[in-house]
Amino acid sequence: MSKQILILPGDYIGPEIVTEARRVLDWVNKRYILDLKFVDGLLGGAAIDACGNPCPEETLNAARQSEAILLGAVGGPSWDDVDRHIRPERGLLQLRSELELFGNLRPALLYPQLAEASSLKAEIVSGLDILIVRELTGGIYFGEPRGIRTLENGEREGFNTYVYKESEIERIGHLAFELARKRGGRLCSVDKSNVLEVTVLWREIMTDMSAQYPDVELSHMYVDNAAMQLVMAPKQFDVLVTGNMFGDILSDAAAMLTGSIGMLPSASLDQNGRGMYEPCHGSAPDIAGEGKANPLATILSVAMMMRYTLACPQAADAIEAAVSRTLDQGLRTPDIVTAGSNSVSTSQMGDGVVAALEALADQ
Ligand code: NAD
Repeated sequence: MSKQILILPGDYIGPEIVTEARRVLDWVNKRYILDLKFVDGLLGGAAIDACGNPCPEETLNAARQSEAILLGAVGGPSWDDVDRHIRPERGLLQLRSELELFGNLRPALLYPQLAEASSLKAEIVSGLDILIVRELTGGIYFGEPRGIRTLENGEREGFNTYVYKESEIERIGHLAFELARKRGGRLCSVDKSNVLEVTVLWREIMTDMSAQYPDVELSHMYVDNAAMQLVMAPKQFDVLVTGNMFGDILSDAAAMLTGSIGMLPSASLDQNGRGMYEPCHGSAPDIAGEGKANPLATILSVAMMMRYTLACPQAADAIEAAVSRTLDQGLRTPDIVTAGSNSVSTSQMGDGVVAALEALADQ
């Protein structure tokens, strides 16, 4: 029976990068006889423009019927003035929450060809291969009450609630321990338990759970130290697990270690391994429509889809090998251009990856 994949291009550079990733999806679909059926949908600003809702019911229904979702990115200045309850990013948060996509996997892997594009010295980042596991449907981004209220003296006050239930911490903990077990066997749990009670509980639960994973070495680190260590000695890490907001920030910092945020894919998984796949970056309004966007993070997100939801590791390996070959050939979008390499457009980078897939398949 065919499996449905929902395609949500989103806003600004979203459609440009998804077009290239879709070519790769089409290629692996044929090559590995995956019998995938594609459905297009609207999310974010594009959905607000079409029907006034950043996450329309049609999109939610299509998402529930899909095995996996490929998303570009949402948001941008066109929707800065809309009511904050219907902002594009709210649509994305709603989709993640409705589908219970609690586990966000953000690998930060440095392709050796891009060591020079990193903001850190090559010896600090060469060989970097870390995985940030971020809790995605809880914590301060979803906690209630939230809002902006006016106090009795007329001053306004903004407030959010940072809350995690035991079950939410255990769920992300199991995912992270399992992933660490399949990688280097080391898990660092990041919290702020010297200040925030919610993360005192987080640390306690992670510590208790480690008894079930004797083959995984668990350590703990405060988030401020983790931010410092990530830019000072990032190779000390294997897998990091943390809450929603800390994970959001740390994974962007990790992005720069790899040369560009345009290189970083992500997966957001539910309890059954179904998931949404998207680049870690946003909709990059500053370069939209100029053919400058790097499509590799989105293409590598397709590789993650093959590995984590569609159980086709051969396709994942093929895509990753094709990306590496494309970089070997010196193709670079402007964000990763270094001395001696060719600056190419978004679609030329996509051409390069598809040509590399063909070439590697013929070998
Ligand atoms: P951004 O990630 O869109 O851009 C940050 C910088 O990185 C910009 O200079 C941009 O040009 C560059 N960049 C990003 N992706 C790139 C790519 N593929 N190739 C080359 N360069 C790339 O972050 P921002 O500017 O803070 O946010 C822009 C909009 O995106 C905002 O509305 C924000 O809310 C939204 N956003 C959406 C998501 C998402 O959809 N998951 C994530 C983050 C931000």
